[in-house]
Amino acid sequence: MSFAALARRLALAFLLVLAAAPAAAQDAKRIALSFDDIPRFAGSFMTPDERTTALIAGLEEAGVEQAAFFVTTGNLEDDYGAGGEARIQAYVDAGHVIANHSHSHGWLWNGDAAEYIADLDKAEAWLAGRPGKRPWYRFPYLDEGRDVERRDALRAALRQRGLTNGYVTVDLWDWAIDDLANKAIREERAIDRKALGEFYVETVVQGADFFDRTARATLGRSPVHVLLLHETDLNALFITDLVAGLRADGWTIVTIDEAYRDPIAQVEPDALYLGGGRINALAAAAGRDPEDLPYERNDDAELTRLFEERVIVKGDR
Ligand SMILES: [Zn+2]
Repeated sequence: MSFAALARRLALAFLLVLAAAPAAAQDAKRIALSFDDIPRFAGSFMTPDERTTALIAGLEEAGVEQAAFFVTTGNLEDDYGAGGEARIQAYVDAGHVIANHSHSHGWLWNGDAAEYIADLDKAEAWLAGRPGKRPWYRFPYLDEGRDVERRDALRAALRQRGLTNGYVTVDLWDWAIDDLANKAIREERAIDRKALGEFYVETVVQGADFFDRTARATLGRSPVHVLLLHETDLNALFITDLVAGLRADGWTIVTIDEAYRDPIAQVEPDALYLGGGRINALAAAAGRDPEDLPYERNDDAELTRLFEERVIVKGDR
């Protein structure tokens, strides 16, 4: 047997271990919510304070018990970060949890590993001892490195610090739709808000199902998913609709603590295709062609086309 064949067989055996989950849960679709870049820059619909208030109220109305808010501590030093500490506290007071999303939000693939680690330590120092703090690190841009050296340096650094990878399984461009909406508002173009909400929710629900199909094909089961979202105006406006849309599609919303108890949380995928979340990394490690793995709406041209067609009020071009 060639080395490659042996490696493939070992990878398969490993995936079968990952597939061993309670039988009753085999067909359930479960997902937890996470929000990145806290405190994020302001949008065009509301102030950052209004956004946090609306997001907390929407999550509560939707019955979402616990979501994760990944903090980029450097944002607190920016103008839009004013009051950010109180907003972070408000999420925690509402029952949600916080974790590390770096200080400066840099890329790993082209950076110095030691500087990168010092940057995440800076964020960790800010987070240390705060209520609701969890020992998770979410890689900015989901960039876990593109070479073995940087990848493994970070894996070791996280282990040394008692941190685990705050991975996502559903990686879609909620931020890009938010960008399009904010740009339309700034340019005073008429948008159909109902259509905006429907387009947004549809993109998220279809994306969740897309990654679940990849997960089932790779693991033979549906893991507890982690949805990547951002602290955007769009989420503040539509989070209740988004949760309703997921539920109507058969999803159960679970806590982020439950999501990270899934067996896939213990894995370090043997792949260098690491920019599209954990399911895609596992699929790549199992031999899937990385070109097949991204969600089709993770694409500027496609999202812009759909946004113009469905959200911009006709005759307003
Ligand atoms: Zn980010």
